[in-house]
Amino acid sequence: MSVAKLVFTPLSYTGWGSLKELLPEVAKYAPKRILVITDPMLAKIGIAQRVTEPLEEQGYSVTLYTDVVPEPPVETGEKLVSFTREGEFDMVVGVGGGSALDLAKLASVLAVHDGSAADYLNLSGSKNVEKKGLPKILIPTTSGTGSEVTNISVLSLETTKDVVTHDYLLADVAIIDPELTVSVPAKVTAATGIDALTHAVEAYISVNASPATDGLALQAIRLIGRSLRKAVTDGNNRQARIDMSNGSYIAGLAFFNAGVAGVHALAYPLGGQFHISHGESNAVLLPYVMGYIRKSCTKRMADILNALGGNSAYLSEEEASYKCVEELQRLVSDVGIPAALSGFNVPVSALESLTQDGVKQKRILARSPLPLLEDDIRKIYQVAFNGT
Ligand code: NAD
Repeated sequence: MSVAKLVFTPLSYTGWGSLKELLPEVAKYAPKRILVITDPMLAKIGIAQRVTEPLEEQGYSVTLYTDVVPEPPVETGEKLVSFTREGEFDMVVGVGGGSALDLAKLASVLAVHDGSAADYLNLSGSKNVEKKGLPKILIPTTSGTGSEVTNISVLSLETTKDVVTHDYLLADVAIIDPELTVSVPAKVTAATGIDALTHAVEAYISVNASPATDGLALQAIRLIGRSLRKAVTDGNNRQARIDMSNGSYIAGLAFFNAGVAGVHALAYPLGGQFHISHGESNAVLLPYVMGYIRKSCTKRMADILNALGGNSAYLSEEEASYKCVEELQRLVSDVGIPAALSGFNVPVSALESLTQDGVKQKRILARSPLPLLEDDIRKIYQVAFNGT
């Protein structure tokens, strides 16, 4: 049996109303100047103020930074890093979707480093993270990325995405309160929910899967399988929001430890070249990548089918794996996400450049149970383009 390295951190609070744990956690660090990082929408609808106002009432000096954009480009990261360095903050709180949380992680660490954010990117940078940085508390407001429990910060480049990763990017505290997700619009609920499902599915079929991550991944698939449709059609469905919040959190723990694979590797170029959101990029590719690799992991695909609420009892593993792909396709379609790349106006002429960028994601591709080489990647994009 191979050795699994498992990191289950940070200290986390989950559950409806868990935001109340913010003040006692902040108090432990006795900060003088707190930087709260969010996006303009969350400031507009008052979610950011649910974080800043109680802190101000306790007498903390709080600065609200709202210049976060979805799928943040590296320039957005640079601007925030400069702002954080100049402000002499001693704590960072990120509140928002993965975009705000990733930038909060980056800012908290690079505040105590020299150089630009681009210097620290995995694929193209030359510097390594060496110091822990400012204490950080992360509060997700979407149920999707799991960023609150990973050591990854994703930045968009001109045609693809790259990441800064180091365990120093891990939060000190994560507060996962489903109440904060009630206002997420249906389209974002769908995309982020399939993102979380993809984390769990890819963690479960990863070559780095272990018994601990298997348990987390299957439970995440169960929660998301039973509640994503409900959360999309009725955002006020409390139980559905709770399930999605827990599902996203534990899928994050699973994929942080087991890794993601082919779906993510091929989704990054789609997001980079066509500015399709991370969740939608994963969603449109999920059934096609899983359909392509299913013969390398039929037993695991049968388990996923069962976790999604299907029944493999009277099926061969081969039949169950096929049915699993159909079930994933149905779920993506039921939540309103286009079933083919053409539905996102991706032209056929782009398939080659997508393939070339996909091949570069070697670290992620290495976790696929079926090795995915250039020709495989080309074929998957082609099938996803046609939708057949
Ligand atoms: P996002 O943060 O970009 O937010 C999407 C939209 O939803 C924004 O317009 C935002 O204002 C809105 N929104 C967020 N919460 C809301 C709420 N409660 N009510 C109303 N509107 C709300 O989306 P995301 O999918 O959460 O994050 C995507 C980013 O995360 C991408 O850059 C992706 O690459 C990255 N990501 C990071 C990790 C990681 O481990 N660090 C994992 C997966 C994805």
